[in-house]
Amino acid sequence: MKRISILGATGSVGQNTIDLIRRAPGAYQVVALTGGHHIDKLARDAIDLGAEVAVTAHDDLLVSLREALKGSKVEAAAGKAALNEAASRPAQWVMSAIVGAAGLAPGLAALEQGATLALANKESLVTAGALMMRTARANRANILPVDSEHSAIFQALVGEDAAAVSRVIITASGGAFRDWPLERLAGATVAEASSHPNWAMGQRITIDSASMFNKAMEMIEAREFFGFAPDQIEVLIHPQSLVHALVGFCDGALMAHVGPPDMRHAIGYALNWPQRQALPVEALDLAAIGMLEFRPPDPERYPALRLAREVMQARGLSGAVFNAAKERALDHFIAGRISFTDMNIVVEEVLTALQDAPEARNSEMTLDVVAHMDHLARKQADLVVSQRRTQG
Ligand code: NAD
Ligand code: MG
Repeated sequence: MKRISILGATGSVGQNTIDLIRRAPGAYQVVALTGGHHIDKLARDAIDLGAEVAVTAHDDLLVSLREALKGSKVEAAAGKAALNEAASRPAQWVMSAIVGAAGLAPGLAALEQGATLALANKESLVTAGALMMRTARANRANILPVDSEHSAIFQALVGEDAAAVSRVIITASGGAFRDWPLERLAGATVAEASSHPNWAMGQRITIDSASMFNKAMEMIEAREFFGFAPDQIEVLIHPQSLVHALVGFCDGALMAHVGPPDMRHAIGYALNWPQRQALPVEALDLAAIGMLEFRPPDPERYPALRLAREVMQARGLSGAVFNAAKERALDHFIAGRISFTDMNIVVEEVLTALQDAPEARNSEMTLDVVAHMDHLARKQADLVVSQRRTQG
């Protein structure tokens, strides 16, 4: 039996992972499941899957978690240290599906014990790509991409010589507002931004799809994970979300990865890697689909893509600043304190304000240095938001 843990088990990716585990009774021994506020869901799945331990990120929910696990053999734990401890329990495969930079430390803990890390949490690569990749190498641990575009690139590269790759194209649905008139964007509500045309995902990544901060993060993720140069990474709008990414080779070939928008494909690929196994994913009927469309993204509609190019060039700690500023801008948008389009302005102002910070010049990327920069960027984002509110 393969020992596995799922970090962020109660979320969209976590639940899709559990769906695959349930379909293969006897194949997996579940070590740890972690979650946040959804204690009942966490406890139910932990008991049902016979997990060793269930962890909530919130200290104050420990009592409720204990209560929900009463009568079972599952241990209960809570808080950040407990999350890291759960991630470092010996396991062969760990799903990193916490949302946000909170996924970084547990992901590193899993790599340090040598587990294969199935990485949905793109924020950890954007925030600390060099640290993640270095930790994986030092512990001979594999990182397997779960973001659908990166899984697609990874699959297109099997058996290929990396030196023969000329470019990669990451596709984007264009999100909830791809066809809205530009002047309406500033008035977009949280509810409107929280509906995705093709994928069912957590609220934060869905809003990031509407602003294309998600695609911006994915460009940086591709740079950090595969080592492509910034000018090799392109983005195309593809409204059907069936072609997830394309890899271009020096001989003119473009290898496209095509499949339905179902995360269980990318999760299952990482779960079964290096083999392929049957997955509960619909077979596409291309004749019924008839047409695939592609078009370039409008830079005015999606300023986040330009910011991503700046971060890919600068590297170092600029990814930590970018991610933290984006997370705070999103918090403020969800709380109704800034408009949808203000998110771009906040992130750009934070990047500008911190680009020359002495902390940014630190050459060795450690978790402490990254956490400090993340903290500075969040504070700066809050400052920019409060200034805009007093001016406005
Ligand atoms: P989600 O909001 O549905 O779930 C997030 C999970 O993280 C939950 O289990 C939640 O309890 C936990 N969590 C939230 N805040 C936490 C904190 N501070 N500390 C510890 N745990 C915390 O999110 P999701 O859509 O499943 O996305 C998870 C990750 O996967 C994100 O990084 C996202 O960008 C990435 N991703 C998701 C999809 C998708 O289809 N949903 C696709 C590609 C990549
Ligand atoms: Mg993606």
